[in-house]
Amino acid sequence: MTFDDVMCLKTHQLEFEYLAFEAKADFHDAAAAYVAEAVDAERVDRINDVYWGSDAKISLIAEACGLTLHKVNKLIRPVPTGKKCGGCGAEFMAHSRTRLKEIDSNKWHDPSCKDCRTRENTRCSEQRAVEKNLRLKELSRLRTMPYSEYLQTEHWKGFARYARKRAGFRCQLCNSNKASLNVHHRTYENRGCEHYPDVIVLCKPCHEKFHNIGERNA
Ligand SMILES: [Zn+2]
Ligand SMILES: [Zn+2]
Ligand SMILES: [Zn+2]
Repeated sequence: MTFDDVMCLKTHQLEFEYLAFEAKADFHDAAAAYVAEAVDAERVDRINDVYWGSDAKISLIAEACGLTLHKVNKLIRPVPTGKKCGGCGAEFMAHSRTRLKEIDSNKWHDPSCKDCRTRENTRCSEQRAVEKNLRLKELSRLRTMPYSEYLQTEHWKGFARYARKRAGFRCQLCNSNKASLNVHHRTYENRGCEHYPDVIVLCKPCHEKFHNIGERNA
């Protein structure tokens, strides 16, 4: 790029800035005249026309209307967006142009309105409470039933299966994979929701030897 090119670009930029400045001034004057012509409710309508009908910064609109930014923000009325809540079918209203663009664009991922989301959240937390209650009931059932009965539950059978698999289907004492494998409780503290360190996988001979030296049955 030569010096002339740079100067040329600079000139273009200045021209562009000047045009933008002019456009801004024109917009300001037109908006001011349009709003000033009306009174009361109609004036508010017109401020809304200017806001929703243009991309002008809200500070520029406020300036043109002779109002504070805060006041203009309060006068802007939400507009319908044509998009509906997937839950209750209520139409979404946009409270700002940014929001309107967002709803129009692909950024819009949430097809539920606030009411529906609140309802859904309540439903979910109620559901979670019910499930938690059921889990607690089941846990207390597993903890209080006779031990021999406990060993026949799906819960224990499933856990024991995983424990054997985790041990590579070998005795964790003698490493044999020949004899059938028992899953021995090292502690009963977590009965009903065991963790792997709570048990040890032993082959039948090792398990028997272990219990022969005076441990309780498991
Ligand atoms: Zn809804
Ligand atoms: Zn063994
Ligand atoms: Zn045992």
